[in-house]
Amino acid sequence: MRILITGGCGFIGSNFIRHILDKYKDYKICNLDKLTYAGNLENLKDLETHPRYKFVRGDICNKKLVFDIMKHSNAVINFAAETHVDNSIKDSNEFINTNIKGTQTLLDAAKLCNIRRFIQISTDEVYGSTNKPSKEEDTLEPNSPYAASKASADMLARAYNVTFKVPTVITRSSNNFGPYQHPEKLIPLFTTNLLSGKKVPLYGDGLNVRDWMYVIDNCEALDLILHQGETGHIYNLGGGNEKTNFEITKLILRELGRDDSCIEFVKDRLGHDRKYSLNTSKIRKMGWKPKHSFESALKETISWYRENRKWWLRLKP
Ligand code: NAD
Repeated sequence: MRILITGGCGFIGSNFIRHILDKYKDYKICNLDKLTYAGNLENLKDLETHPRYKFVRGDICNKKLVFDIMKHSNAVINFAAETHVDNSIKDSNEFINTNIKGTQTLLDAAKLCNIRRFIQISTDEVYGSTNKPSKEEDTLEPNSPYAASKASADMLARAYNVTFKVPTVITRSSNNFGPYQHPEKLIPLFTTNLLSGKKVPLYGDGLNVRDWMYVIDNCEALDLILHQGETGHIYNLGGGNEKTNFEITKLILRELGRDDSCIEFVKDRLGHDRKYSLNTSKIRKMGWKPKHSFESALKETISWYRENRKWWLRLKP
């Protein structure tokens, strides 16, 4: 298989590239990444000279470049996105460009190339705030500009399948955590703040609930969908670990030997969704379940940030 991965220098994409090259000894990967502030060549430094890996710096909105690369691929996995909700509240322009127009550019190229599988990486945030586990067929009610841009991309992936028979599949995952996640996101932000002797900024009352999944478990689910997912289908992916932000904060504080005095409650995010929750029975029926326990994966993740100070120090404001 020759896979075009977009956004592979980010958090999930870099973990996924390592997973695929390790597991499948005849697969080739081309990684197209613009290297925004969130993309980091250090994430894949160990693969720089790998014979089955190629990196191209470029924008998924660049039609000619996308077509030139895609014609040598038979599968596409679109991880590339603007991903930080807070940034989308400040200015949503880049979210519209990359997350919507970029996806459209990739889908247009896929229409012309002989692509056997196109995976659009989406998020549980497209369902909006909910008290009951969202199913794949539920109505989308995105509340942040980020979530709205991802929902739009989902709609395009669906439409290109129905209209042009582009073999799209959509995955909607809950919050991932693990190594190589940018220190703007909750778990690495709080961990690296505490490792730098700073406090941790907790939004509102801290009682917003998210489901958490270790990134390696997500990579395994994506691997299964790449090979056995059904065209035109949507798959929810979640770890089954619903926790309030306050609970996550307490676990990080405990692991780093700190107490509640390190918490600084800050003004809530605008439109902050109260709860995301996923029904993952569809992927579980295919035989996938998370292999890592939340507690041990969180400990491992915190250790990784402890041991890789040089990696995150350059990224922290
Ligand atoms: P990330 O922010 O760590 O990385 C995004 C990558 O995309 C970066 O390497 C960046 O340089 C690249 N990129 C951005 N704009 C680009 C463009 N125009 N052209 C080419 N490359 C571009 O993101 P992540 O956390 O790894 O998330 C990957 C995907 O998974 C995203 O689509 C995101 O919406 C989705 N997702 C993430 C989570 C999570 O918890 N991290 C949860 C659900 C869904």
